[in-house]
This record gives sequence, structure tokens and C-alpha cells, in this order.
Amino acid sequence: MVEVKNLVKKYGDMLAVDDVSFTAETGEILGFLGPNGAGKSTTMNIITGYISSSSGTVTVDGCEILDDPVGAKSKIGYLPEIPPLYIDMTVRKYLEFMFNLKKVTLPKKEHIDEVCAVTKIKDVQNRIIKHLSKGYKQRVGLAQALLGNPPVIILDEPTVGLDPKQIIEMRSLIKGLGKKHTVILSSHVLSEVQAICDRIIIINRGRLVADSSTSELSQTLSKSNCIVLRVVGAPTGVLSALRAVEGVYRVEKGLRVSDNCYEYEVYSEKDKDPSRAIFYAMAKNNTPIVLMRGNELSLEEAFLKVTKSEPAPKEKGGKR
Ligand code: ADP
Ligand code: MG
Repeated sequence: MVEVKNLVKKYGDMLAVDDVSFTAETGEILGFLGPNGAGKSTTMNIITGYISSSSGTVTVDGCEILDDPVGAKSKIGYLPEIPPLYIDMTVRKYLEFMFNLKKVTLPKKEHIDEVCAVTKIKDVQNRIIKHLSKGYKQRVGLAQALLGNPPVIILDEPTVGLDPKQIIEMRSLIKGLGKKHTVILSSHVLSEVQAICDRIIIINRGRLVADSSTSELSQTLSKSNCIVLRVVGAPTGVLSALRAVEGVYRVEKGLRVSDNCYEYEVYSEKDKDPSRAIFYAMAKNNTPIVLMRGNELSLEEAFLKVTKSEPAPKEKGGKR
């Protein structure tokens, strides 16, 4: 379990992390989502003890990072934004080197074999790291993070720069890790955290703007009582028939889908579900419905909604 409380990080006058608190439960995959410059890497570097905070506390599996930095660090495997690889070493030699550096006490050969199997790099063990593809390099970085079997795994933008196939492989690797470890991963890609994570924390300009389960988040922000329809038939007739349905208070014509088929957004009064009445009305009108769905905001839209409501930043330092 990772507990972050009232974390603040200042660079000069600039607040890179502004009073952030959250908890990652054991066995949970937590997504740390935010645009570039939001403060994700800074927060992760503090959790992993790479940099110090200005104030606030971080506890990893019971160890406070300031009181017991060695204990806390031993419980974390970290894959930073740029993996710390020695590119002139072979994969195997590098992992042996990191094994020693981390003072791992597990049986060396068996443990490295296991880590290579989990990250699927067995076949490149004897290759020199700089000759590997970006996807493989990233997996070697992940293997390094897994050395010593730490209960907490922290991954900073683990899929950046990978091609679509490598992204899918990396995602399924991470999902697998979630079974045994607490995983915190950062990303600026919504669909990514949506695909991998149980819970999502959104950070923007250093501040936490949302913290909820993946499905809850999109539900909280969903457009209430709106149904999207695709109906075949002349729009004027469709519109007036829809507006006449009981409980419907507003109808908007949307995109033209094909020749004689348009999309409509139908808004109804609270706690009323006019979908059946709409079905019969359209049937009677001789304008068939070819699609009907609830209109939940996608997480993408939800994200924009959450982050846009933030006030503009005061004078901020430039990008690194
Ligand atoms: P993210 O990982 O979400 O893209 P970062 O944590 O890297 O964001 O950066 C957060 C903010 O802190 C950015 O505005 C960045 O420019 C600033 N920042 C990061 N590291 C430093 C540093 N060493 N010195 C000054 N400003 C920094
Ligand atoms: Mg970053």
C-alpha cells in the first residue's frame, strides 16, 4: 500500500505538486493521469525517494520515505520515464548488475530467469541493450524494476514511444503485474489508464482534480438523461414525433449518418426513461430507429471537463 499525504513540491515559486493526497491499495492498479507538465513524474520521483518533497509524507507498505528511506525504497520497483539502462551491457549482465546493486537476497540465477520470463525477454538475454528495439528496452527496464519482487511497482509513462503492438504487449504485462503487486502508473493517455487501471487519479497543474474508480469517473460526469438515436427518415417528421413523446423536453439533430439517416440527441426529464415510448413513436411514424444508446461522456470528454474547470495558473516556470 502506498499512502501519499499533502505532498507539496516547489521549484522556486512554482508549485509543481500542490497538496496532493491519495492512497494506492494493495493489489490495485492505480492510474495517474494528467497532461504533460501536470506533476506526474515529480510525484513519482518523490514516492520513490529520488527527489525530496517540500512538505508532506509518503508511506510505502508502512515505511515512511523520510524516516526509513532504505526500507521504503526496498519495497518499490521503479521504471522512470527514461529507463536507467546501461546500453553497452547485455540484458543478462545488466540485470545481474542491478540485482547486486539492489542487494537482492533471492537465488540469483532463478530469480533473474523468472523476471526475464515474466517480462518476456528470455530470447534477448545475451544481446547488447543498445541494439534492442524500444519495446524490448522498455521491457528490460521493467525487468529491472521487478528485481527483488518489490510489493509496489511504479511506472512512469511506460508505453510512451512504443508502437501499437508493443503498447498492447506492455499493457498486458502491466495487467498481469496487478495480480501480485500494487501498481501505480502514469500516463497522459486516457484510453490507456481506462484499459489498464482499476482506479484513476487525475492531476492537473500539480493539483488533484479527480480520484475515483474508472467506471465511476465517467458515470459521475455522464450527461444525464440523454439518449442518442439514429433514425432513418425525413428529419422534420422525426423531430416533431420525438418532441411529442411524453417526458422528452429537448431534441437536437446531430450528424447526418447516411443519405436519409440522422443522429439525434434526446433529453428527457429526470428519472424518466422515454426509450420505449420513442421506439413506438418512431415505429408509428414509419421512421425506423437503427441505433439507440445512452450518452455517457467518454473519459476523454470527462477529462477535458474536469481539467477545464480549473482556474488558469499563476505565473509558471517554463517547460523543462
Ligand atoms: P509530468 O510528468 O506530469 O509531465 P513533471 O512532474 O515532469 O510533469 O513536471 C511538473 C512541472 O514541474 C512542470 O511545469 C515542469 O516544468 C516542472 N519541473 C519539473 N522538474 C523541474 C526541475 N527540476 N526544476 C524546475 N522545474 C521543474
Ligand atoms: Mg512525466
